[in-house]
Amino acid sequence: MRFKHETDVEGFRKEVRDFIAQELPPEEERLRRGEEGGFKSTQEEYDYVMGFQKKLAERKWLAMAWPEEYGGGGASHMRQLVYNEEMAYHGAPSMNMGIAWVGPSLMLYGTEEQKKQFIPRITSADDWWCTLYSEPEAGSDLAALQTRAVRDGDEWILNGQKIWTSGGHLADWGWLAARTDPDAPKHKGITMFMVDMKSPGVTVRPLVNIADRHGFNEVFFEDVRVPNNQVVGEVNRGWYHMAVALDFERSGIQAYAGGRRSVERLVELARETPELAQQREAIRHQLADRWLEVQVGTFLAYRVATMQARGMVPNHEASASKLFGSEMSQRIARTGMNLLGMHSQLRDGTKHQVQDQATNYLQSASSTIAAGTSEIQRGIIAGRGLGLPRG
Ligand SMILES: Cc1cc2nc3c(=O)[nH]c(=O)nc-3n(C[C@H](O)[C@H](O)[C@H](O)COP(=O)(O)OP(=O)(O)OC[C@H]3O[C@@H](n4cnc5c(N)ncnc54)[C@H](O)[C@@H]3O)c2cc1C
Repeated sequence: MRFKHETDVEGFRKEVRDFIAQELPPEEERLRRGEEGGFKSTQEEYDYVMGFQKKLAERKWLAMAWPEEYGGGGASHMRQLVYNEEMAYHGAPSMNMGIAWVGPSLMLYGTEEQKKQFIPRITSADDWWCTLYSEPEAGSDLAALQTRAVRDGDEWILNGQKIWTSGGHLADWGWLAARTDPDAPKHKGITMFMVDMKSPGVTVRPLVNIADRHGFNEVFFEDVRVPNNQVVGEVNRGWYHMAVALDFERSGIQAYAGGRRSVERLVELARETPELAQQREAIRHQLADRWLEVQVGTFLAYRVATMQARGMVPNHEASASKLFGSEMSQRIARTGMNLLGMHSQLRDGTKHQVQDQATNYLQSASSTIAAGTSEIQRGIIAGRGLGLPRG
């Protein structure tokens, strides 16, 4: 079976490719600087990502499927899919948390005043958001979170600690879940807040990952005052708002489009490297397997996108796509390590070094943890997808 989008969508794909060719620095340069996919660690990388996103915002591409009344492009889900595919394939930094779930959640649950204040600054790439869900004792079991918010007149007072906060050191605003009713059952006493990350009492401390990158942080809140008009949705209904936001997070095509480019790079390398000739048979099979996985996964992501296009809310289908994509990206990284051997540890200079497989490999370890672990995704597929009883 061959899949083909409508003509105007394919024309749009060309427009996106032309834009990328003009605006994105060459692939080798970005790989060398470790910038591919918009990974931000330093202020310099952040400036590069924001600069690129401003250009997308000028074209109304950053929030392309949002309604025009909210500053979006009003584009169809299929256009959005093609755009995401092209951006991820070329490693362009086209996404941020404000676009991915803060804005969509505000459109559903925000007040008119909140929409007016926050949404235009998201669509114009003026504000950078971080997500403050996880805590030292609350990850997979997110409803166990202990950060407390206590009402004090027109304000709330926040105390507690968050962890693994991606980009928290660069963020203007935090999208935070806190416990507001400690006596209620644990899913029923949580509220969502928008917190100014420059507020007095907020301390951000770096956490450096195994690839020696500073992407996430610990964030401490000590008597931080948050105005009541920065509560999102209903007080004590935050768990349900968060669950919808997590479904926004898990439905992307990005892993497969990026994976496709990674496999292509490895294939190019295998063709051009005479030393690899001796192990050719084993490598051929590994690369063929990775290529098949990219194809299968792409269809899983298309399924999620076509459900969204029909107004459905994907749930276990998004988990299946997230699970397969994250495990696939680890297998691609492992194949790259096998292919390059000792060369995988080198960085700039030769063709080998540009691949920087070791960093890629180390970074990929986190993909089956971020946005919900593989075990949690399997639990969702087993329970909600297959209707199996809880173990
Ligand atoms: C790259 C990266 C970026 C992240 N960014 C953010 C961010 O910006 N904001 C944020 O809030 N959080 C972020 N996180 C945190 C992430 O959401 C949590 O790490 C994740 O939900 C797992 O929680 P945990 O680390 O506490 O592990 P735990 O929940 O303690 O899990 C430990 C192990 O037990 C298993 N396990 C737990 N419960 C079950 C169960 N019910 N059934 C079967 N197995 C189970 C898990 O699968 C895992 O293997 C990020 C994480 C990573 C890796």
